[in-house]
Parts: sequence; structure tokens; C-alpha cells
Amino acid sequence: MNQKERHSKEEDDDFTLDISNAEPLELDDQYTKSKSIGWGRCHPMMFRKGIPAIIIGPHWPLFIFAFLLFFLMGGLFIFLRISDDPFIFYSTLIISINQCISYLIVGLINPGVANIERNDLEKNSQKTWYCKVCKLIQAKETQHCQDCDVCIQEFDHHCPWTGKCIGKGNIKQFYYFIISTAIFMIFNLVLILVKIKEQESKIQKQQ
Ligand SMILES: [Zn+2]
Ligand SMILES: [Zn+2]
Repeated sequence: MNQKERHSKEEDDDFTLDISNAEPLELDDQYTKSKSIGWGRCHPMMFRKGIPAIIIGPHWPLFIFAFLLFFLMGGLFIFLRISDDPFIFYSTLIISINQCISYLIVGLINPGVANIERNDLEKNSQKTWYCKVCKLIQAKETQHCQDCDVCIQEFDHHCPWTGKCIGKGNIKQFYYFIISTAIFMIFNLVLILVKIKEQESKIQKQQ
């Protein structure tokens, strides 16, 4: 592989990432050094070994709004089922807490803000792009997010509801959150329908 070769959009038909902020890079020594990391519009909160363990995105008000919504919905269902069968009550409690925590984790952990190390670069140097905004070499699957204004490793999408990007750092947690939400919705919908049926049959008996 010739690293000096410049890649163009037309030549790399299989390279489908959005490269609006990236340009093909002619590798030389000045770009193979690690760069200091910028955080774009994200707000790092807690660092571990120089990398933020907790980081909130530019749409953090939406994240807080959605979290409060889940929290209040879960709290309401728990409150309404205090006098229900213990199995139903504790299932509601566990499913609601799981839902809130899974959402908090996705919204708080680092989605994979790019931090290019030389080893990563060598492994992925077949397709090499340079981000002019972050001033770093993009590894394979790294993409610049226009909302966060920073490069994200293994970029999946920007999710306004979690306030930030979904990428290498939080994609598994994101899928877990989606499954938790589906369980939360289905469980509560079924119980609401059962309650409505019970109420209907009570009214019919009284008539
Ligand atoms: Zn970038
Ligand atoms: Zn983003």
C-alpha cells in the first residue's frame, strides 16, 4: 500500500463516511504525532488518564428533559402499583430503575472522542483522512460530528435525546438502553391494558 497516494472520493467507492470536514491526507511525520485533544461543543466532566470518563454533549438540556420524563413516568408507575401484587410492584421498580440508569449511562459516558495514537493510525492507515477542524488524523470509521464539532471514533449517529453522539464508547450501552426502553414500554402498556379490562369487567358485573 502506498501511503503517499492521495485518496479521492471517486477512487474509494466503498468509503461512504461523511467527509465534509475531512480531506485526504498525504502522510508525513508531522501528522503521525499524537495531537492534544479538543472537545468541540462537548463538556468533559471527569477525567481518567487524560480521557474524560464523563462527558455531556451540546444538547444536554434535551438529555435532562428526557431523563426527567423517564424518571417521572417510572416513579408514577411505581407509585400506582404500591398496593398491587408484590411481583408486579417489584417488576415495575426494577424495570423503571434499569430504564433510568441505562439512559444516564449512555448520556454521560464518553462516546469516543477521537484521540489518535500512532498504533491506531498504522493499523488503519489504508484509508486515511485528516480532519481540518480537530487537526487530527481520522482512523477508519472516525467521523466529524457537526453538532458536537469533534471527531468521534466509530461514529454511529448524533442522538439529540442523549445530548450527544453515539460512537465506539457508548454504542453497546445505547443498544442496552433501546432494549430497556422497549421492555419498559411493553411491560407498562400490557399492565395498563389489563387494568382497563379489569375495570370494564367490574363495571359490567355491577350493571
Ligand atoms: Zn473532527
Ligand atoms: Zn455529535
